[in-house]
Amino acid sequence: MTQPVSRSLLGDARVWSLLLAGMTLRLAAQTVPGNFAEVPFHRLSDRSVGPLGTRALAIRSDDWKHAESAHFVYHFFQSFVAAPVSVEAEFFYTVVAKELGRDTSQWERKCHIYIFEKPADWEQFKTAGQLDPWTGGLHVSGELFIVRDPQAKWKGDTLGHEVTHLVLHRYFGPGIPLWLNEGFAEYTASRGYAAFWRARGYKARPRAQAVDPAQWIPLAELTAGTAYPVDVLKVGVFYNESERIVRFLSGVDKAGFQRFMEALAQGNRFDTALSKGFPGKFSDLAALERAAKDYATREHGTAIQDR
Ligand SMILES: [Zn+2]
Repeated sequence: MTQPVSRSLLGDARVWSLLLAGMTLRLAAQTVPGNFAEVPFHRLSDRSVGPLGTRALAIRSDDWKHAESAHFVYHFFQSFVAAPVSVEAEFFYTVVAKELGRDTSQWERKCHIYIFEKPADWEQFKTAGQLDPWTGGLHVSGELFIVRDPQAKWKGDTLGHEVTHLVLHRYFGPGIPLWLNEGFAEYTASRGYAAFWRARGYKARPRAQAVDPAQWIPLAELTAGTAYPVDVLKVGVFYNESERIVRFLSGVDKAGFQRFMEALAQGNRFDTALSKGFPGKFSDLAALERAAKDYATREHGTAIQDR
């Protein structure tokens, strides 16, 4: 349902951009499935399937279908399952590219997305690689593997998270630290879905849960981690806290955050990247920790609304 728009609101550039975004999305929703034409594998513009992709396509190999959109190649079993994925994937691609201030014209090769439907197929496949425990998606070296239940009405909000990993990998390579990769994916997904729903006339705001101060993971530990926490209860805190740190730093200085991210992806130590991205802002890790913890734990126990 579209909200009535008052005259004064029409003067607001943000309202216009939201309305335009809504129109673009509606247009995309109408046109993409029509354009979402199945093509034989050999007709795809990008056929560079990785080792895991090869393994995926070997499962019920005769049943896989293929298609592509501007930035992605899709491998799937049924078009009506894959077409909405393509709308969302392109939407999130745009959100991430904009957030990172990247020029999309440099994107040449396409990322491959494999869409499973049957849990049995997924179980058969899911034997290697880094399974993201939060979303159940699998992202390996620029390829994304997901499961979509054709019967489920609500498809969940994890695709934006996973597509963000793909785009980050494409722009920054494999060097992004785990906390930053997950934190940025959560941050983008929450912002992106709020925009997705706002564009459809719903009053959606990005929401995130404040971190329980008692469960705070010290930044030295969080930022040094190369694997997900072993303790399952800590996994949620790991994602949530990482997201809050990303949101905090991006809010301090967006361009600085991009420099910081680039430095980390290139292998800089955390404090070096911090001084490159935010010169003079935080004297050391302890100073950042105090400010970030204050921000991230504020209003713990209530859902907080973001700027
Ligand atoms: Zn993830």
